[in-house]
Order: sequence, then C-alpha cells, then structure tokens
Amino acid sequence: MKADLHCHSYYSDGNHAPDFLLKRAAENGITHLAITDHDCTTALEKPLDDYYGLQLIPGIEVSCQWETQEIHLIGLGIDWENTELKNILYKQQTARRSRCEAINQILEANGIEGLLDYLDALASTTFTRSHIADFLVLSGHTKNKQKAFKQYLGKKGKAYVPFTWIPLYEAINAIHNAAGLTVLAHPGRYSLNKRKLEALITHFKANEGDGMEVSYGGIDPLMQRHLEQLAESASLFISVGSDFHNAEAHWTDIGKFPTPSPAAIKNAIWNHPRWHF
Ligand code: AMP
Ligand code: MN
Ligand code: MN
Ligand code: MN
Repeated sequence: MKADLHCHSYYSDGNHAPDFLLKRAAENGITHLAITDHDCTTALEKPLDDYYGLQLIPGIEVSCQWETQEIHLIGLGIDWENTELKNILYKQQTARRSRCEAINQILEANGIEGLLDYLDALASTTFTRSHIADFLVLSGHTKNKQKAFKQYLGKKGKAYVPFTWIPLYEAINAIHNAAGLTVLAHPGRYSLNKRKLEALITHFKANEGDGMEVSYGGIDPLMQRHLEQLAESASLFISVGSDFHNAEAHWTDIGKFPTPSPAAIKNAIWNHPRWHF
C-alpha cells in the first residue's frame, strides 16, 4: 500500500480534474488516493470513467477555527451525502463567497475591477484566496502569487478580510457523524511556537481527533521527526499527503513527500480500526 491522503482538484483551488489526479497518482505508484478539497466534495460526487486501478478515498479539508488560529482538518472516508456535513460545507462555501465580495470591494476601491466576473467563470465550488491571487496575477496587478498574498491577501495585505471559520471541535464531530476519520493537516505550517503546537494537539486529542499529518509537501526532516514524536506521545495515528494543487507550479507532486519512519508507519491511519479501504 502506498497512500497519498491529501490533494486538491479544480473544484477548490487545485488546477486539475479528479481524473488527472487519479492518473498521476497511478503513474507515481500510489495505490490509495484521497481527494481533499477545501470545504467541498464536488470532486467526489461526479462519476469517473477510470480509477486507474486506485482506491479513491472520499476526503475533505475543512478550514477551522481554534482560538485565533486557522487550522485545517482533513476528513477521510466521509459519507459526503451526510446532511450535517453538507450543511456545514454549504455554510463555509457561502461565507467564502461573501469574503470574496468583501475583498472585491476593497480591490475596487483600489482601482482593481473584475474579480467577481473572474470567479463566476471558474468551475470551482469553493473560492479561496488562491483564486483571488491568480486573478491579481492574470490581470497584471501583481507579478506572482507570493506578491499577491504579500501586497493584498495576507494578514498584512491591503485587501485582507478577517474571517472566522467553524470551530475545530464542531468540524471533528461532523466528520465523525459522517463516518469519517479526522486528521490534523500540516501541523508544522501554522505559525505556532512549540508550546502552542502542543496545546493544539492536546485540544485535538481531547476532542477525539484521530490522527495528524507527519509528512507533507515541503516538510523538513527535523519537523517530520518532531511531528512523529508528538503523534506518538499524544497517541494519534499518523497520516501523509502531498497537498498537491498544480503540476505547473511549485507544488510537491502526488506521492512525493518523505516517507515516515517505520515506527510511525505502524501507527498509520490506514491501520485505524475504523479504516475500511
Ligand atoms: P483560503 O482558504 O481562502 O484562506 O486560501 C488559502 C489557500 O491559498 C491555501 O489553501 C493555499 O493553497 C493558498 N495559499 C496560501 N498562502 C499562499 C501563498 N503565500 N502563496 C500562494 N498560495 C497561498
Ligand atoms: Mn489550497
Ligand atoms: Mn491546508
Ligand atoms: Mn490542502
């Protein structure tokens, strides 16, 4: 078994169709792929012609709130037809759309027109700041996406709109009620010091979170070891995923993240009693 349990399609802020993701995963030797779009399950709802011999695991990446932090929660093996989960995702999608409208107003006040028309022409179910960054680059207002975040969309940018997501514990409960397992996404990517990261993991475990990612795109070996130790001491299962978005940009390719240590693999999420793929 070789799993990649985190990637995005063009129904959120990835650049490719689900079919492309499966094909690429198969080419890269993956046997189990979870598509985990931001706050939407559209990729899972559409029938596919070919699975390229892969097991597709229905997934989700929910943007959540923990204290002042935005935290991403992966759901694996979800029943995407579950009403509670559907309602939550619909709420987040609507709120995301309102955030885009608020950002659009600020952009217009800065002489930048056309964001909403750009978004309406996309296939995406969820709109992220990544889409807005693309718009700023394509319309010639910034040189690249990094600059779009720095100048406009990041916390210090002039079009930053603060946002409150669903509380982390509520998203954990909803994913459990929809038959899924819950995994803390890329724990080393949040701006948390050592003590705060430990507090997050304690909170996650206390609220019955199941696992945490210990390997993902861009992680360095020291962080990976640190996360493996944290997972072990919190008795959390470990998970892995590329967080692939786009073959034409800097993103780590499907399956191309560092392998966890053999000790950590023993506690992989696919060994969880409720895993059935
Ligand atoms: P949102 O969920 O709307 O806040 O959008 C966040 C998305 O934007 C993430 O999922 C990333 O794919 C992307 N993103 C965040 N920060 C950056 C950055 N500095 N440069 C490029 N993309 C970014
Ligand atoms: Mn993204
Ligand atoms: Mn994420
Ligand atoms: Mn992601």
